[in-house]
Amino acid sequence: MKITALAGGVGGAKLAHGLAQILAPEDLTIIVNTGDDFEHLGMYICPDLDTVCYTLGGLANPETGWGRVGESWNTISNVEKLGGPAWFRLGDQDIATHLERTRRLKEGQSLSQITKDFCKAWGIQHTVLPMSDSPVRTMVDSEEGELAFQEYFVHRQCAPKVKGFRFDGVEAAEPVVGAKEAIDRADAVVICPSNPWVSIDPILRVIKKIDKPVLAVSPIIGGKTVKGPAAKMYEELGIEPSSLAVARHYRTILTGFVLDNADSAMENEIKNLNVKTLVTDTLMNHLTDRTRLAKDVLHFIGSL
Ligand code: GDP
Repeated sequence: MKITALAGGVGGAKLAHGLAQILAPEDLTIIVNTGDDFEHLGMYICPDLDTVCYTLGGLANPETGWGRVGESWNTISNVEKLGGPAWFRLGDQDIATHLERTRRLKEGQSLSQITKDFCKAWGIQHTVLPMSDSPVRTMVDSEEGELAFQEYFVHRQCAPKVKGFRFDGVEAAEPVVGAKEAIDRADAVVICPSNPWVSIDPILRVIKKIDKPVLAVSPIIGGKTVKGPAAKMYEELGIEPSSLAVARHYRTILTGFVLDNADSAMENEIKNLNVKTLVTDTLMNHLTDRTRLAKDVLHFIGSL
């Protein structure tokens, strides 16, 4: 079975990792959100792309789900001592990624080519694609005005109430070479359990049209997020956060939806959206959970 997965950072990376345990490299392409990318301390940083690559490469910090395992923090502590900005935590190994990426971008290489080379260096065999080579910037419309995504997410720790989102540059952004082809080749597109508003919507806006069965895994379990502000965003936008809200979010493109056992009471309402459902355990604490959920998802796709 050939799958193209759409992923943000932590939640997306976990299911992508599970899928990569089962599918051969030529059968899995992961298209990753770059709306969170930003420039900081002179470096070009791609948080979601790096989270997915570090996870697939076995380099991720298992406690945080982002950043590198066995990390040291000398550079950022010394930046802080000098009075520089240290609110975005960057480890020493991680900084090497951003430095080398920035150097190559300045030479005129594309983000997709750089990502391909980095994946090779990290021993990642499955294809990881940034959604676009042109910059798309997620802007958060909040009660305190419009904020750049990382300003909202990391610096302000998601405190300002959100009113909406804007993806600066999305109209002009084309998907990277290989993204549409991967979707055309795929038996199905899997939307990983990532933040629908700020991780998946930017990818869908860039891709524009998907003529394949689309299946999404809910990032909301029992009305809460496992991590991050998705549930808080739903609430602030006046929508009760739930698996049902996520299914409604994607309803125009959805063929199948995977919700957690904790939300089984919502299954019928989701079915009423004309969507096939799978109720299973969707919490991925360990690699075994990731692989088990990936197996369930693939089996579900096979049955559609
Ligand atoms: P970010 O860009 O790093 O915030 O990452 P994502 O957008 O990919 O992931 C954030 C979403 O993943 C949140 O809404 C979480 O609830 C969800 N998530 C994280 N871990 C899990 C998990 O184990 N299972 C499920 N179903 N969702 C998860």
